[in-house]
Order: sequence, then C-alpha cells, then structure tokens
Amino acid sequence: MKKVKPLSKNKRDVQAGLLALRKKMPALENIFDAFGPLVQAQEKAVISLEDWKFTLPAAYAPRFEQGVPFLSDMEFPELGEYYSEIFSLMASAIAEGMPALTDIVGKITKSIQNIDNINDLAKAIWDEDSNGLVQLVKDLDVDQDTLVFIGTMSLKPFMVRMEADAAKVIETMLWLKGYCPICGTFPDISLLRKSGDDNAYLKSHGGQRWMHCSCCGHEWRFKRNMCPWCESEDYKKLRYLQSEERQTERVDVCDTCKHYFVTIDTRELTEAPDPRIAPLGLVHLDIRAQEKKYKPMAETPWNIF
Ligand SMILES: [Zn+2]
Ligand SMILES: [Zn+2]
Repeated sequence: MKKVKPLSKNKRDVQAGLLALRKKMPALENIFDAFGPLVQAQEKAVISLEDWKFTLPAAYAPRFEQGVPFLSDMEFPELGEYYSEIFSLMASAIAEGMPALTDIVGKITKSIQNIDNINDLAKAIWDEDSNGLVQLVKDLDVDQDTLVFIGTMSLKPFMVRMEADAAKVIETMLWLKGYCPICGTFPDISLLRKSGDDNAYLKSHGGQRWMHCSCCGHEWRFKRNMCPWCESEDYKKLRYLQSEERQTERVDVCDTCKHYFVTIDTRELTEAPDPRIAPLGLVHLDIRAQEKKYKPMAETPWNIF
C-alpha cells in the first residue's frame, strides 16, 4: 500500500483560525457560529480519509489543456463505510450551527438508516442524477434541499482528499481556465500574491492571482485581468469594490456576466490567510455584491442568502 503523506494544509489549525478570525470580525459572529462547526467538521473528515483508497484516472494532457478538468470523467469511486460516517459528522455540525434545522436534520439522519446503501445518495450527487435524488427523497420522505446539502457537504472531503494526489499529476500541465483544473468547480476566493517568476501568458504587474476551489480546495494560478466565469478581458467591465474597513479585501465583479468573487490581497500581509476559512470573514462583501445584483461564482453555504 502506498503510504499517504500527511496533507500539508492540515498543519494549519482550522479551529484556531476560525477563532482568530471571529475575534477580528465581531460583526460576522453569527456567520462563524452558523458555519464554523461545518468548516471544522470538514477538516476532521478530510483527516479521517487519510487511508481511504481510490484510483485516479489517467492524465491526458491535450484534453486537460483544452479545459476538461482532470476528474471530470472519473467513475464514482468506492467510498466504503467512510461516507456514512462523514454524513453523520456533517449532519451534527449543520444542526449545531443552524439550530433551526435540528428537526429536519434529525429526521434525515433517522430515515437514512433505512436505506440499503447511503452511498447511493453520494453517487446520485456525484452523477448529478436528479431522478435518482428525487427517488431517494421520496423513499426517505425528507426535505430535499437539506438532504442534498448534507450529502454534498459529505462528499466534499473526498474531493479534498483526492486533490492532494491529483495536484501532483497535473502539476506540469497547462491550465488557463477560471474553474478548477481538478474538479471543475468555480473558486470561492482569490488571493493576490507577490510575483515570482512569471510566464508570458499569466504575466502581470502587481502580483499573481491565485484561485481557490470551493469544492476540492485546489489552488491554481489565473490570469489577472480576465473574468474567470465568462473569460471577458474587457477592462472597463472588470471592476472591484473595496472593503471600507480593510484595504486588502475586495470583491471583484464582472459587468459582462454579472458574476463576482471575493479577493484578498496578501502581498502586504504578515500572515497568509487560510483559504478554507478566509471566505467566512468576507461575507460582508458577498452581501454588497449581491445587493448590486451580482451572482457568486461559487455558491457556498454562507453566501446563499
Ligand atoms: Zn476543485
Ligand atoms: Zn464575466
């Protein structure tokens, strides 16, 4: 068996990060209370998957480099007992953070014990099989949105686990898209970092733009002056709204497709933000952008109002 290396991101303590950010952003306390338990449970789940075995698809550079994410053709992997355990973990975290959902979540965790294989739920979500999902909801007689929410949150740690290995496979291949090269999801945050060696295509003045996948947590470099959603390079339509409190935080908007994403300029920061947590501290920017009728590139539990 291949020994799995400890995941480097886990070295940073999510709980400590959440507490520190909550202290820094007292106005967003309710956001941290609602979603903090979920973020922590996600991390716990990722760690529990250290010994989970999966087989990544073969890499085919020409297809990938045309914009087909690495895992897009992957067959649903065998999740074993892990999914069921993670589902319970997520359900508890969601009920803890959002007490209004306690009864609905309780009903789901009770009914889910009656289905033959909870991994069918994971497969229906993986395959985007809406008929399969509707059937499951009918069989279980539960709230569909909440079931899909818990089910999706329970699948995410598997994506994060695969990302650790997949990132090494795609390392040498070229990716120019605004969605994740591994799983195809749009980013929940972008980080501006100091320029190092720049290649001609991505070259930019004033730092490099890195995108963080809202699903698997992969980070990839993206062109600075292009909309990740519609790929417009019309500079008159690519603007940003800066945070009034902190100059390093902003929301980038595109007036061509009306999408937005939040950004932290990390170049002058003494401590690099943890992208698993940082979006929670930028919800005031989500609100501002959505008030102006922009849509988030990635829907996260905390930016759907
Ligand atoms: Zn991803
Ligand atoms: Zn756009």
